[in-house]
Amino acid sequence: MERQRQDGVSAESNPDICEAVRRLCASFPGPYWQAHDRERTYPAQFVSAMTEAGFLSVLIPEEYGGSGLGLQAACAVLEEVHRSGGNGGACHAQMYTMGVILRHGSSEQKARWLPAIASGDLRLQAFGVTEPGASTDTSRITTFARREGDHCVVSGQKLWISRAEYSDLMVLLCRTTPRDQCAKPSDGMSVLLVALREAVGNGLTIRPVRTMLNHATTELFFDGLRVPAANLIGKEGQGFRHILDGMNAERILIAAECIGDGRFFIDRASTYAREREVFGRAIGENQGVQFPIARAHVQLSAAALMVDRAAAMFDTGEPCGTEANMAKMLASEASWFAADMALQTHGGFGFVRGI
Ligand SMILES: Cc1cc2nc3c(=O)[nH]c(=O)nc-3n(C[C@H](O)[C@H](O)[C@H](O)COP(=O)(O)OP(=O)(O)OC[C@H]3O[C@@H](n4cnc5c(N)ncnc54)[C@H](O)[C@@H]3O)c2cc1C
Repeated sequence: MERQRQDGVSAESNPDICEAVRRLCASFPGPYWQAHDRERTYPAQFVSAMTEAGFLSVLIPEEYGGSGLGLQAACAVLEEVHRSGGNGGACHAQMYTMGVILRHGSSEQKARWLPAIASGDLRLQAFGVTEPGASTDTSRITTFARREGDHCVVSGQKLWISRAEYSDLMVLLCRTTPRDQCAKPSDGMSVLLVALREAVGNGLTIRPVRTMLNHATTELFFDGLRVPAANLIGKEGQGFRHILDGMNAERILIAAECIGDGRFFIDRASTYAREREVFGRAIGENQGVQFPIARAHVQLSAAALMVDRAAAMFDTGEPCGTEANMAKMLASEASWFAADMALQTHGGFGFVRGI
């Protein structure tokens, strides 16, 4: 059935991108995602199609083979994937993890890595920060990179590292100076780019962590992994700051995915409310059904404006930490409400797996 388009901010500002993504996603309908969820498998075909279409390299400058567009365009891509019922979480990190190389890498490092990431020959979609003993308090990480000649020798453990099994490269944050020897707790951490395929079995072990949803996340064990010192990105000891400025892009993009999810729920609920007849008329003729759909639409549209504002500020280089956080909070809450509304609108059928 032809979907009714609502006033998505991204759809208004990037109609061509949205249309192209929608066409691609039409080849990956609900049953494709349901099968991967059921089997807990990685949607490799979808990720390849997104790569080949160039949607994952929109943030890479043209000189390195990307399309050199901004975060608003990237938001449009991910919003549309989710509005179409897909899951950008399988590959969204390919868009933004390279930001640490782009912003803090040397010109040699950019020339070496970015073109291969832009073409998709190399996947950089793993980001290793969190540890079981540090969690939200990143300054407490203990994974340590000790300098030995022209190598760094890494030992420690990471947890919740998504897509590590499906990535060629990983941005790794580790301590290079013990916390108690630093002027500030956030000093003394550095960023290394790790070639995962070579590392596995040579000082790195990857173990999948099974989660409630089909999310490819893992725990990592480092035992004397040797990483060339040439793979140190940015200034030694300044890694926490280098990582932090990339988190705004991540937050804004995930907020855009939440907007797409919310639109998906509203599309589904509106359609069902028009079609499902109870007491001899469409359930959507009742205000008790209409009002939650309208509220979901209002909340989502307001959140979308915040996402768009945060993305616009990011694109013009303005500090946008507050706006990125507001966008993610508002969009996730609006999306959650829309999901609940869609479930209620579908009555008992909302409980069925795979409709
Ligand atoms: C599916 C998934 C994928 C992930 N992918 C990655 C990844 O790719 N790379 C990566 O590095 N990390 C990843 N993470 C890690 C994620 O960023 C962490 O879960 C997060 O940093 C929180 O750590 P924690 O889960 O150990 O919670 P904890 O730090 O143990 O916190 C537990 C709870 O306490 C709250 N809390 C903690 N301190 C305070 C405080 N001072 N005041 C109020 N509340 C507080 C927290 O908000 C949380 O609700 C992923 C996590 C998940 C679940």
